[in-house]
Amino acid sequence: MELKGKRVLVVGLGRSGLSAARFLRRQGARVTVSDSRSAEALAKDIPALLDAGIMVEAGGHGLLTFRRQDLIVISPGVPLDTPEVRQVIALGMPVIGELELASRFLSGKVVAITGSNGKTTTTTLVGQVLADGGLTTQVGGNIGLPVVELVEKDTAETWDVLEVSSFQLETVDGFRPKIAAVLNLTPDHLDRHGTFERYAAAKKRITERQTAEDFLVLNGEDKETQMVAAKTKAQIFWFSGRRPIKQGAFVHGESVVWLGAEGGKAEGVMPVAEIPLKGAHNVENVLAAVCIGRLAGVSAASIRETVKAFTAVEHRLEKVATINGVEFYNDSKATNVDATMKALASFPGGVHLILGGKDKDSDYALLGSLISERVKFVYTIGSAAEKIERQLKGVAKIESAGTLAAAVARARERAVPGDVVLLAPACSSFDQFENYEHRGRVFREIVQDRHQ
Ligand code: ADP
Repeated sequence: MELKGKRVLVVGLGRSGLSAARFLRRQGARVTVSDSRSAEALAKDIPALLDAGIMVEAGGHGLLTFRRQDLIVISPGVPLDTPEVRQVIALGMPVIGELELASRFLSGKVVAITGSNGKTTTTTLVGQVLADGGLTTQVGGNIGLPVVELVEKDTAETWDVLEVSSFQLETVDGFRPKIAAVLNLTPDHLDRHGTFERYAAAKKRITERQTAEDFLVLNGEDKETQMVAAKTKAQIFWFSGRRPIKQGAFVHGESVVWLGAEGGKAEGVMPVAEIPLKGAHNVENVLAAVCIGRLAGVSAASIRETVKAFTAVEHRLEKVATINGVEFYNDSKATNVDATMKALASFPGGVHLILGGKDKDSDYALLGSLISERVKFVYTIGSAAEKIERQLKGVAKIESAGTLAAAVARARERAVPGDVVLLAPACSSFDQFENYEHRGRVFREIVQDRHQ
């Protein structure tokens, strides 16, 4: 892709937008960035952009800015139905995302991991599996470094392990991972995608350009994910925590097993009991990582050692304290109903569950049966509290706590040794916190009595 002298507009100045703009400039493009936020809000980034010779439009998008471009690079945070973007798409102008841009410059082997939940955990684990297996590995995408930042050090021998979101996949075109994985597909981000079908369609694009030389790793227990299988030309490997499958990784008895070829010989990888992460969903993440690791040529013995040493990624069902026999878990990243269900399924009972935050058009009634089975008390926080209370009425004992501090305080009073206080709020955090990390940190500080 020749960018020298081309006019390129980057829409949205998030982390990946900033990286994309600088990358494009280094490639010799004439770059403008446009963001709907005010110049004041962007103040910390503007001087460096201007210094780098990048033009900045703040406080909205001028239609003429969009018209005079050879290429438009849109950030994952900017919806494709933003009026200006819709118009340029209708005019037939090329509109791509940072993932697509970067992938045109990557020379290494790409592993792309998507799904509604488990992406960060699995991507981090796969990065570790490949690195421990002796492969030159870079990790990025939706976590850590934007993909364009991986281009500079990339070689034909490098494995680029990417976490990719539905928003990033909406704007791919030629993106072709050597190994793709779809971990699961459950409703999320319906506020942005509109319907589940549109959300699922975006996720399926991960395999659109794959060929018979590529691999697609899919969840054998997830119906929606199985539908991706009908759409691919890649070789499919499945994973299942429940039953043997034809080709891929599964749990058999007490062991994780890998079956590299249909009708071939199964290979024991490790006892399930050695997996240090909590919950059946994390066994699935490990199974996906086993598939990817083996397909990349890492030995089962090496994968076993990596998994054994792997600890929960921060804010993902992470144990933050045991106080007077009560365990406190931070699962602030449980920002949708499915993740909260997985968290609840990881504890047999005695749970004090903190729910709430900003609603994403979710159906909290889905939590009903797990709550009645395992939860002693629900504490609601944030703007979704009233809806949650309405939908769970009669299912659980619910207390409207309002704030995280009040919820922890009330749970602490009630909990007895052996109980669990779980922050797995099923909502995003933006009503009361900067982001889910902030919410998780505040939870930890409150629990550890360090909160100011
Ligand atoms: P993502 O990057 O897709 O958001 P994370 O690894 O950050 O995934 O985990 C997000 C939330 O989902 C956390 O609450 C975590 O405990 C939960 N989770 C992790 N793996 C899975 C899975 N395979 N299925 C369902 N939920 C999961």
